[in-house]
Amino acid sequence: MKKQVGLYVHIPFCARKCAYCDFASFAGREADMAPYVDRLLREMAQKSDDGLEIATLYVGGGTPSLLPDQLMARVLNGLHRSFSFSENAECSCECNPGTVTKEFLAVLKAGGINRLSFGAQASQERLLRLLGRIHTWAQVEASVELAREAGFSNINLDLMLGLPTQTLADVRQTLRSALALSPTHLSCYGLIVEEDTPMKARIDQGLWELPEEEAERAMYEACRETLSAHGFSQYEISNFALPGFACRHNVDCWKRKEYFGLGSAACGFLSGVRYQNPPSLTDYLAGVPAEETAISPADARFESVMLGLRMTEGLSEEEFFRMHGVTIDQAFGTKMEASIRAGLLIRENGRMRLTRRGMDVQNRVLVDFL
Ligand code: SF4
Repeated sequence: MKKQVGLYVHIPFCARKCAYCDFASFAGREADMAPYVDRLLREMAQKSDDGLEIATLYVGGGTPSLLPDQLMARVLNGLHRSFSFSENAECSCECNPGTVTKEFLAVLKAGGINRLSFGAQASQERLLRLLGRIHTWAQVEASVELAREAGFSNINLDLMLGLPTQTLADVRQTLRSALALSPTHLSCYGLIVEEDTPMKARIDQGLWELPEEEAERAMYEACRETLSAHGFSQYEISNFALPGFACRHNVDCWKRKEYFGLGSAACGFLSGVRYQNPPSLTDYLAGVPAEETAISPADARFESVMLGLRMTEGLSEEEFFRMHGVTIDQAFGTKMEASIRAGLLIRENGRMRLTRRGMDVQNRVLVDFL
């Protein structure tokens, strides 16, 4: 029987850099797109393995929808030539509203993509401009409509919380506008202000102010309440899905299942070794090899807790034992007692999970496990 794994493919090109973005993505490198796809195809051929079956595919970026149609077709055809996919594989592709065309969506459909994720972020034009996004909300609506016409029904929208000048009323309006598009999945991410980004510079200069922590918590709470009222369940700190539509690719990563990555900056985790391809586009194109890191047993156990506690269902104690050969108690002794006493962590029915309050302060809980 073949080993089921996930596969991530990184497409690092963007029309322009968003103000908050420190991802390995590049604007103005259109001339590198064709050589990049050639290099990706070579990497696919190298990593092709008859013993593996792709259970989930995630084409992310960057902006995959910026690739010209024929290049995306080459990527998807190459994947199907090099790897076998499970019959019911979940195959996602990230799209940026404003870059999606009917022809591009037809290429995705023909290439087996069955789930789309749009970076929608907020329905207020002032917030989209502040973020440096290339699209308007009208383009989000138009892209989702095009996607439906092309036959896609499993659609995620990414939204952002805690933005400078964003109010609770803005978040509620964004949720209403997003729900009007009938997505199956919503990811609601709190803004992280990264070093060396225009966002950080403007905040440091006092030009933009972040909402207070309490205001951001209220935005998050509004997401939980509104989405729950519309039949979505929260299955991870930032992710909400209608029944049966949780993103299997991400769930498998949080369960520490094996996956591999193709493309610049792509990470993989196979046979206890994590690796990352060079983040620099130039290095990747030049064939610089991936950096590998062997995970020690102690690190592996901590990874299981760190990833597993992101999910609302938490971590299965039985799976932990199967994966690591020790129980959670043997691995961590009394380290979690303080969090349990503080009402942040619960152990019941063979699972360990964060309480709602624990989810708000996840890092504090994790420190105890270190
Ligand atoms: S579209 Fe995504 S990857 Fe590209 S710059 Fe914006 S946030 Fe970064």
